[in-house]
Amino acid sequence: MTTDFAATRALFQIPEGVVYLDGNSLGPLPRGVAERLASTVTDEWGAMLITGWNRAGWMEAPARIGDRIGRLIGAEPGHVVLGDTLSIKVYQALAAALQLRPDRRVIVSDSGNFPSDLYMAEGLCRTLGADYTLRVVAPEDVPDAIDDRTAALMLTEVDYRTGRRHDMPRLTARAHEAGALAVWDLAHSAGALPVDVAAGGADFAVGCTYKYLNSGPGGPAFIYVAPRHAQDAHPALSGWLGHEAPFAFEQHYRAAPGVARMRVGTPPVLQLAALDAALDVWEGVDMNDLRARSLDLQQRFIAGVARACPQLQLASPRDPALRGSQVSFRHPQGYAIIQALIARGVIGDFRAPDILRFGIAPLYIGEAEIDAAIAALADVMATDAWTHPDHQRRAAVT
Ligand SMILES: *Cc1c(COP(=O)(O)O)cnc(C)c1O
Repeated sequence: MTTDFAATRALFQIPEGVVYLDGNSLGPLPRGVAERLASTVTDEWGAMLITGWNRAGWMEAPARIGDRIGRLIGAEPGHVVLGDTLSIKVYQALAAALQLRPDRRVIVSDSGNFPSDLYMAEGLCRTLGADYTLRVVAPEDVPDAIDDRTAALMLTEVDYRTGRRHDMPRLTARAHEAGALAVWDLAHSAGALPVDVAAGGADFAVGCTYKYLNSGPGGPAFIYVAPRHAQDAHPALSGWLGHEAPFAFEQHYRAAPGVARMRVGTPPVLQLAALDAALDVWEGVDMNDLRARSLDLQQRFIAGVARACPQLQLASPRDPALRGSQVSFRHPQGYAIIQALIARGVIGDFRAPDILRFGIAPLYIGEAEIDAAIAALADVMATDAWTHPDHQRRAAVT
């Protein structure tokens, strides 16, 4: 192993005494981000005013930083761009995929997909007309659900609840065999495990940056369009910054070359600056090392919880090859148990109806954090601490 995980741990600012197992939902703050944001605000916005668009490279940032993410997901250079939220990027990728298969009307997805992805697909079907349908099947039934009516297979590689991982190359090949396109959501993959969209044959891929890529709350999403589609993918959201010549202010839309057409409007310059600084933590990280370390830590956690808390049922696959970088358990009182854990400084989260979720991000989580989390969980279960009324009250964000 060549990656120095003690060194990456030192790059994060995590409050003293906190064990942070929720980087799959919102990554923690990399130390370089605050300084970079301050300098972007003061030295760029403050000092340059509107000239920052040219002088500070604000306009190119979505493509330049997109390429930094491209390196983490195996994308060809120049085929990833940043902007908007993931829900928007899902819509754009799916709409473009449907347009590339105009004689087909069915989107296939699975019940493990994140609701927003399914909601966006439903909305797109409604907009396109009654004959478009979204077919949602159980994750294991996906291969058989793809047929010659399928326009697009839309899947999230790693299930946000259970951490179950789909076989991206195999399912993509299955979609292609049937003449369909594959749209992959990498929300729980980018920065979590090795991903190779080019080798895996993905037609489109999308993901967010505020989870394992630590860009901060509201950080922009990314979209990848395979080079073979780059000139044909029609942007459903034809905003001015996806125009070939935005500053010609022409009356009619002409798509920019390549993935740049997936830009919509003004880029979030401050969030992009935060992301750019956050991506520095990946310098010197080998994704295969990250994966090996994540699986070791997951195994330690699963074994420890099985020993100390037999009441919790493992919700993630037992086979490590089938897991992403999180471990989940089921318990009917999952919400209150997570609240009691948070009160002990161990931050995980809860997903309805009964999932306790723990993200294992080796950049800042090691054996000590895993052992502390097991001990805290054992204490919560042994003392029934979760029965306290404070822990039963639901907050808006779980
Ligand atoms: C986190 C997540 C989202 C969130 O979408 P936003 O538009 O960024 O709020 C969407 N899809 C998946 C699969 C996710 O994991």
